[in-house]
Amino acid sequence: MNDGELTGQIRTHITDVPDPDCALHTDVVSPFLNLRRAALAEGFDLIPQSSFRDFSRQLMIWNQKFSGEKPMVDAAGRRIDVSELGAAERVEAILLWSALPGASRHHWGTDVDLIDRHALAPGYRVQLTPGEFAPGGPFAALAEWLEANAPRFGFFRPFRGVLSGVQPEPWHFSFAPVAENARRNLTPAVLHRAIAAAPLLGKVEVLERLDALHARYVAAIDWP
Ligand SMILES: [Zn+2]
Repeated sequence: MNDGELTGQIRTHITDVPDPDCALHTDVVSPFLNLRRAALAEGFDLIPQSSFRDFSRQLMIWNQKFSGEKPMVDAAGRRIDVSELGAAERVEAILLWSALPGASRHHWGTDVDLIDRHALAPGYRVQLTPGEFAPGGPFAALAEWLEANAPRFGFFRPFRGVLSGVQPEPWHFSFAPVAENARRNLTPAVLHRAIAAAPLLGKVEVLERLDALHARYVAAIDWP
């Protein structure tokens, strides 16, 4: 992947998949469909709730949270009033749940947020919260199956809240053979160029500590 692809600014590495409707790195389409087929055989209608996401979408999410347009919660799930926070604190609060534009693994097309469509009650709105994937939640059985079987297909969970600074995300899976190359190639310098050129709120605070943010949220990941 080139710098534009690594930071989600272009989508030349992406293939649009019609069924199930998603957008993946071209080399991840077959591995994902193999994983889906195996899941289907066990009764799970495995689909990505989210797959490829581009830089401008991530930038919109970031700016809406930074400005307080979009609600934010802390690690305990309590609402945060951003008007009480300085710029550096807002950056910290956003990074708990959302990636820095240019630094999302979803830019690579190698990472997917997975749910079981069979487990959806009519009208149910998926929120991607840990409770949905814990015992008693609608996706608990899927989470257990993925934990045991995803590695056979090359997929792993990069966000377990151990080494990665990202909160544990039991729904987020990554295709290691392609994603690991991207992780190595997305250096602080590549990320710096993408952010410096973008209308990002809190840009000064982000660029000031970009090396630390890169180390914590891009370089550090969890392994099975
Ligand atoms: Zn995700």
